[in-house]
Amino acid sequence: MTGDKSDGHSAGLPDTPAMRRTSRALRRRAAFIDRDGTLIVDKNYLKDAAQVELVPHAANAVRAFNYALVPVIVISNQSGIARGLLTEADYRAQRARLDDLLEERSAFVDDHYHCPHHPEVTGACECRKPGIGMYEQAIVEHQLDAAASFFIGDKLRDVLPARRYGGRGILVPSPETSSDDVEAALAAGFDVVTSLSLAAALALDLPHPPES
Ligand SMILES: [Mg+2]
Ligand SMILES: [Zn+2]
Repeated sequence: MTGDKSDGHSAGLPDTPAMRRTSRALRRRAAFIDRDGTLIVDKNYLKDAAQVELVPHAANAVRAFNYALVPVIVISNQSGIARGLLTEADYRAQRARLDDLLEERSAFVDDHYHCPHHPEVTGACECRKPGIGMYEQAIVEHQLDAAASFFIGDKLRDVLPARRYGGRGILVPSPETSSDDVEAALAAGFDVVTSLSLAAALALDLPHPPES
């Protein structure tokens, strides 16, 4: 922390190594979006790419971010890889399938990041959410303004990084979301909405959710 106002991070504001490696002139706000249970239906350690199924209206929400020129960054814990339930190749095939399904609906993800670890199998890592390793990488690689970004997902761990960065957390509960996560998100002052479309409308200040 230098207190140098030229980097846009003055004393008291969030500050991470990645944030210090962004250019004030270039950085853009982004939508960090969880994958399983948020963009696609959570099938509990999905293996077969043919099983990738978009959540209703997810493509509309992604397209709204695309139109607003807000990069969409998928941030996904994939501990099934550590557990041997799927391979990196399976994950890459799923990612390609997700990209195809979105493209068919004129939407796209700017980049995907995943954590293949599980603490009980591979030991602690910095990338598994709510850790910020994947966000840190994306912030530098895409020159993102994390403090102006949106942290969207169906679990508390997806929105908690918003607090670290000073961004906005939006919980979109899925059938897999515990009531504890919802209560903790509300108590922490995060927004809680019922669909990714509503999350996009909230983030982008749209008059109506992008569901048409
Ligand atoms: Mg999820
Ligand atoms: Zn990891």
